[in-house]
Amino acid sequence: MRVRFWGVRGTIPVPGPDTIRIGGNTSCVEVYTPDKQLIIIDAGSGIRRLGQTLEKEHPGRIIGNILISHTHWDHIQGFPFFTPVFGRSNRFVLVGQKRVGQRLEQILAGQFIAPYLPYRYNSLPADLLVKEVGEDETLIIGDNTVVKVANLNHPGGCLGFRIENNGAVFTYCSDVSHGDDAFDPNVLKLAEGADLLVHDSHFGTTEERNKFAHWGHSSWEEAAQVALEANVGTLALFHYSPDLDDDSVERILDQTKKIFPRTILATEGLELNLPLHEE
Ligand SMILES: [Zn+2]
Ligand SMILES: [Zn+2]
Repeated sequence: MRVRFWGVRGTIPVPGPDTIRIGGNTSCVEVYTPDKQLIIIDAGSGIRRLGQTLEKEHPGRIIGNILISHTHWDHIQGFPFFTPVFGRSNRFVLVGQKRVGQRLEQILAGQFIAPYLPYRYNSLPADLLVKEVGEDETLIIGDNTVVKVANLNHPGGCLGFRIENNGAVFTYCSDVSHGDDAFDPNVLKLAEGADLLVHDSHFGTTEERNKFAHWGHSSWEEAAQVALEANVGTLALFHYSPDLDDDSVERILDQTKKIFPRTILATEGLELNLPLHEE
């Protein structure tokens, strides 16, 4: 199972000289299974470059699933610029939260409205199917890929995903805040024994995390403690605050490794193959 990171930032894209090593684009991760199932997680600004790459790698037809953790803007803002949606032969299943009184398709289409954009969601040539999922649902993609879904503690909710294929396990928990006394049990459930856990590490310090607890995010320290508790193979820090420059994020990695040595930074362009430590 191949994992590629296209956007690793939270809140707003921050391209520039201070973020060149980590990357400035917002959340987008691609998972590609050995049996050629394409799974895209989140459609932040990083999805634009993924789209260009997919068009080169699959010149005939692109078929895939796009899992939307939640519809905060940093997780959907790239979608109108994901050029495969302009390809008539392409087909995507968009998977996201089932919510009372709000249809996922309407929320996504709400980004394509004049005077903000000159084209509409309904006019996109690709075949787009929307699937709303509830708490604790399991999806089967292709013959061999199981995607387990759970709701995480975040304002308005946020889906976490556990993707299993051929014994390899990838867990994505991008936006979540833990209690002061206990971790979000759904994060632990999704992450248990995973080869790779991608976890929110928005805040650079615990003080900041405590001050802005209502934002619904974690610190790198909490990410490391979850990785320990869930006994994961490798932890990838993710969803960095736009205020953190490359030097700050690299310092955070050093600190995190003191708690959980098998930690890496999710960086734009990073490609990994799971399981990571095959003997
Ligand atoms: Zn976010
Ligand atoms: Zn969010």
